[in-house]
Amino acid sequence: MIEINNVSKTYPGGTKGLNGINLSVAKGEFVVIVGLSGAGKSTLLRSINRLHDITEGDIVISGSSITKATGHQLRKIRRDIGMIFQSFNLVKRTTVLRNVLAGRVGYHSTLRTILGQFPKEDIELAFQALDRVNIVEKAYTRADQLSGGQQQRVAIARVLAQEAKIILADEPVASLDPLTTKQVMDDLKRINQELGITTIVNLHFIDLARQYATRIIGLRAGEVVFDGPVEQATDDV
Ligand code: ADP
Ligand code: ADP
Repeated sequence: MIEINNVSKTYPGGTKGLNGINLSVAKGEFVVIVGLSGAGKSTLLRSINRLHDITEGDIVISGSSITKATGHQLRKIRRDIGMIFQSFNLVKRTTVLRNVLAGRVGYHSTLRTILGQFPKEDIELAFQALDRVNIVEKAYTRADQLSGGQQQRVAIARVLAQEAKIILADEPVASLDPLTTKQVMDDLKRINQELGITTIVNLHFIDLARQYATRIIGLRAGEVVFDGPVEQATDDV
């Protein structure tokens, strides 16, 4: 479902974020990428969704090259990819429901979404998504009145409403306490199992990775230093 072929990313100024990455992730997999700060985890996820352009190589999503795509084709590929960030990236001063409906934006004309008009089916999808992360009762609460864990669950509901086929989560629990971390990781894992959404999660703690991953990819200095089942991953991958 995701093919990463010989990908390198050099930032302006010369820092190498990724150096010759080759990876293949199958539909429905739950993969955890581990590595110290600066290893290239975030650069890799941002490359997959083409939030920035790569310097070398090719990334293919469900048979289409996102590296080469433009315009309508690029938007179509991106619609299948939901991003979750450490900092939640919600619109703080608006309701949870509106934040979740933002996941539907790619399905409508710009005018309609500027006016904030969403069809009844979208509202239903948004409520289903909120239900899946057990947060329906917060639908009309302003996003900035929620706890960090609740905000991250809203971000998960947003990618569910988006009907994303791939979830890329960049350190989704880095700013959460241990109990909330467990709730958010449990949600991601359950959604992967129930809906078969291909999921890649960046984490910097191998212990947490072990609890949830079936496959672990270790990154160091922009290179893959381990790729295998969780049982074979040593502490220094
Ligand atoms: P991680 O997510 O594992 O912490 P990153 O992907 O953020 O690692 O960073 C990989 C390398 O690329 C680091 O050396 C980092 O300093 C560098 N880097 C990341 N983002 C930028 C940027 N926007 N400009 C320049 N260098 C960057
Ligand atoms: P910034 O411009 O602050 O770096 P981004 O360009 O990464 O932020 O994203 C802008 C907004 O769009 C954020 O609110 C982010 O959550 C949202 N977003 C970006 N990509 C996706 C995606 N694939 N799925 C859902 N939301 C996304």
